Amino acid sequence: MKIRVGVNGFGTIGKRAAWAVSKQDDMEVVGVTKTRPSFEARNAIKEGFPLFAACAEDVTEFDKAGIKTSGTLDDLISKCDIVIDTTPGGVGADYKPKYEKAGVKAIFQGGEDHSIAGISFNAIANYHESWGASFVRVVSCNTTGLCRTLYPLDKAIGIQRVIASLVRRGADPGDKKGSMLNSIEPALKLPTHHGPDVQTIMPWLKIQTMAVVTPTTLMHVHCIAVDLKREAKEDEVLGVLSKSPRVRLISGKDGVRSTGQIMELARDMGNLRGDMMDICVWKDGIKVTGNQMFYYQAIHQESDVVPENVDCIRAMCKLEQDPLKSIAKTDKAIGLAK
Ligand code: NAD
Repeated sequence: MKIRVGVNGFGTIGKRAAWAVSKQDDMEVVGVTKTRPSFEARNAIKEGFPLFAACAEDVTEFDKAGIKTSGTLDDLISKCDIVIDTTPGGVGADYKPKYEKAGVKAIFQGGEDHSIAGISFNAIANYHESWGASFVRVVSCNTTGLCRTLYPLDKAIGIQRVIASLVRRGADPGDKKGSMLNSIEPALKLPTHHGPDVQTIMPWLKIQTMAVVTPTTLMHVHCIAVDLKREAKEDEVLGVLSKSPRVRLISGKDGVRSTGQIMELARDMGNLRGDMMDICVWKDGIKVTGNQMFYYQAIHQESDVVPENVDCIRAMCKLEQDPLKSIAKTDKAIGLAK
C-alpha cells in the first residue's frame, strides 16, 4: 500500500513537494491545503490534487470563487499517514499539536526551529536519524546546499574547519516583499544561524558563516573556504563532488558563469518550473592549495529541498533503509538522476 501524504500549504515549496511525491510509486498525495482561493488553488485541482481549506471558515470563500474543496485540513489529516507542512516559517509550530492529536507524522521545513522536531534531515548526511520518527524538520535551502557538498568532502578527505560566506537572494521570484531594490545588507549578528543549522545535521563539523542579502530573486551563492584534514589536489575534490548525489558541476568555460545562466540551463533542460534541484558547483572555480580548498556553489532556493522531503518520508515511514537507494529512487522518478 502506498504511503498517504498530505501537503499543508500549497505555496512555493508545497506545490513542488506535492508534485515530487506524486511521481513516486511508494507514496501518493491525498490532498493539499490553501487558505484562500487563488490561481495556485485552481492549479492544485488541475494537477489532480484534492484541495482542502486550511480552516473551516475559509470554505465559503472557496465556494464563492467557484473552487471545489474536499473538506478542511482536519478532513485531510484524517486521510493521511504523514503531512508535509510547508506553511510559512513559524506557522508549522502552531500546527504541531493538531498533528500530534491526530496521531499523524509530520515533516516541517527550514523556517521552523530545530527544536520543533528535535531531528533535522538531510538525505546524504543523516538519513538514519529520522528512521521511524514522528516529527522531523527538513533543513533550509542554504543548509541543504552546505550539507550536500560538505558531507561528501568530510567523508572522503576530512574537514578541519569551514568558513562560508552566503550571498543570499532577497526574495523568491513570486514574492511581493523582500530585500531593498538597490542595497546589499549584511547580517550583523555573527556568526549567522546557518553554521549552527548545519551542525544540527553534522554536529562534529567546525563551521562559521557570514551572510549578505542582495537584490536578486534567482538563487543564493555560497563562497566556501575549507581547511581539509590533509593535502589534496583539485582532481581529487572534483572526483568526490562529481560522484555526490544532487551536486552538479558546472563550468564558466561552458558559458555558465552566473545564476541567471544556471536558471537558463535549467529551463533549457526542460525542468518543470525551470527548477534546479541540484547544488551547482563551478568546477573552474575550485582552488586547492595544500590542505586549503576554496569553492563557489549556487542554490536554487525554491527547489533544492524538494527531493529531501521525499527521502524524509521514506525514512520516517521505514520504506527504504539505504539512503543511497532512496535518493536514487526519488531522483529517477523526478528526472534528477545523474
Ligand atoms: P510560501 O509563502 O510560498 O508558501 C506557504 C503556503 O502556506 C502558501 O500557500 C500560504 O497560502 C500557506 N499558508 C499561509 N498561512 C497558512 C496557514 N495558517 N495554514 C495553512 N497554510 C497557510 O512559503 P514557502 O517559501 O513555500 O516556505 C514554506 C516553508 O519552507 C518555510 O518554512 C520556509 O522557510 C521553507 N523554505 C522556503 C524556501 C524558499 O526559498 N522559498 C526554501 C527552503 C525552505
